[in-house]
Amino acid sequence: MAWAEAPLKVVATTGMIADAARQVGGDQVEVKGLMGPGVDPHAYRQTRTDIVAMTRADLILWHGLYLEAQMEDFFHDLGRKRNVVAVAEAVDPAKLRAHDDYADKYDPHVWMSPVLWRDVVVEVQKALTEARPEAAEVFAANTQTFLAEMDKLEAYGARALAAVPEDNRVLVTAHDAFGYFGAEYGYEVLGIQGISTQSEAGLNRIGELVDTLVNKQLTAVFVESSVSDRSMRALIEGAAAKSHDVGVGGELYSDAMGEPGTYEGTYIGMLDHNITVIAGALGADVPGRGMNGKLSAGF
Ligand SMILES: [Zn+2]
Repeated sequence: MAWAEAPLKVVATTGMIADAARQVGGDQVEVKGLMGPGVDPHAYRQTRTDIVAMTRADLILWHGLYLEAQMEDFFHDLGRKRNVVAVAEAVDPAKLRAHDDYADKYDPHVWMSPVLWRDVVVEVQKALTEARPEAAEVFAANTQTFLAEMDKLEAYGARALAAVPEDNRVLVTAHDAFGYFGAEYGYEVLGIQGISTQSEAGLNRIGELVDTLVNKQLTAVFVESSVSDRSMRALIEGAAAKSHDVGVGGELYSDAMGEPGTYEGTYIGMLDHNITVIAGALGADVPGRGMNGKLSAGF
């Protein structure tokens, strides 16, 4: 092979971007993801080890759109010396949601929509191809395979989520990560915290949500793997004080994927889990182990 050389060293910030780089890059790349399971990207700061890995990398992929808020300056500086790409900034701004907290920013949680995430996968393909043009055909073929899998996921999501009774199509979560998900599948989304986990959840907000749960007779809320469930417990207790029983519908992967080496530790598995758990908890009849029968803890 013309490119029979060492794999391209890629560093990616979130697990979702690392997965895209692995899917597209195949055996042409060696990918290191900086943020593991349960890590909150809004709060994450680069460690010494991360900096060493980035100094040795051929390509550095970060999300952008102010997701990695604490590393924004770091990446802008690094971009002057190294090959650094903010892959989510390739999404057409016309498709982005406004950010509640900052007038000049967008909601960064685009991985929640397989439709928007396609644009990011294609941007990853572009970045890898520029870094290693000899492997362009391999990257193109891998991208097509991955996009076909994403089409399947999108169709499964539409089917499963449309099977939830209309009055139940409300998603109450710890922070506002599911806006694109809600927009795509026709769900109302209510986060205790705003788009960033860095904003404080006020008592007023909890009180408001308790009233919503009682008024709409909603019985399931969702915790997130990368956010503390403290305010979610306050919400459930608040509803109980008004004699309304609310339970945790399940734990969702909002800003980080599952354990490496598991199905939930891939982008497809992460979304399959979220879709299956949400649809199941809100009253749809879904396959317990998800679209591919691979979920370890489905609904
Ligand atoms: Zn978030």
